[in-house]
This record gives sequence, C-alpha cells and structure tokens, in this order.
Amino acid sequence: MTGPSIINGRCLCGAVTVQAHAPKPILRACHCDMCRQHTSGMFISIATEQEGMVIDGPAVSFQSSEWAERGFCGTCGSTLWYGTKHDGARHLAAGLFEQAAGARLKLEFFSDMCPQGYGLKGDHRRLNTRETLEMFEGSEGDET
Ligand SMILES: [Zn+2]
Repeated sequence: MTGPSIINGRCLCGAVTVQAHAPKPILRACHCDMCRQHTSGMFISIATEQEGMVIDGPAVSFQSSEWAERGFCGTCGSTLWYGTKHDGARHLAAGLFEQAAGARLKLEFFSDMCPQGYGLKGDHRRLNTRETLEMFEGSEGDET
C-alpha cells in the first residue's frame, strides 16, 4: 500500500511496524486516569482509517476496561493503540510516527483531568469529562 496519505510507523525497538491510511491525520489527546497510567503522560492518537490498517510484529493487547483494550509492543512496551471492543476499532498512538506524521492537535478529552504541568498549548477544542462522555454516548465512540 502506497500513496500520499499512507503513514508508516514503528515502536521503539522496531519489532512492531504499523501502516495506515490517514487522509485527515489529526491528533486527539486523552487525559483520563487510565491513559495517564498506561503512558505516564496522555494518550495521543492519530486519526486513520480502520480499513487497510496493518500491524506487524509482537503486538500484545490488554483489556483495560469492559469497553476497551490497549495494545503495546511485547518486546519494548511501546504504546501502540487504544481499541474499542464494540467495533474492533484501533486508534493508533501518534508517537509511533515520525513527528506525529506532521499532524496537528485538534481535540483534548477529559481536559479537566489534565494534571497541572501537563497542559498543552494552542487554541484547539478542549472537552471536559461531561462533554467527553456526552460525545461518546452519542456516537458509541465513533470517529469525530
Ligand atoms: Zn518494540
């Protein structure tokens, strides 16, 4: 698969490689407690299409809640994706791609849970806990 909107990434050790179609590669940051515990910071995903996504190598999945699973490299532990169980969607970690594929930050989830000192600059949209939950109740976690 090649083309202008194909992005290729890899984990820290290089054992896992990922490829996806990203016609609108925007970034979304999540400040929920689970994302912070898993990554030490925030989970920043990059919007890609689900169709045609290729993940190769020793990827491991951990079920982190009733509705979600989190993928990581079985060798180096790099965060790979946040997955939703109801539709099997995988939201890839932006950090796998060089310079986050040049994408810009569009949205923060659970902005009121962001620790002091973790704040992100910019005039992108920030959704607090209530607004974040409303978004996912309405769409069952579909792409925004
Ligand atoms: Zn690795």
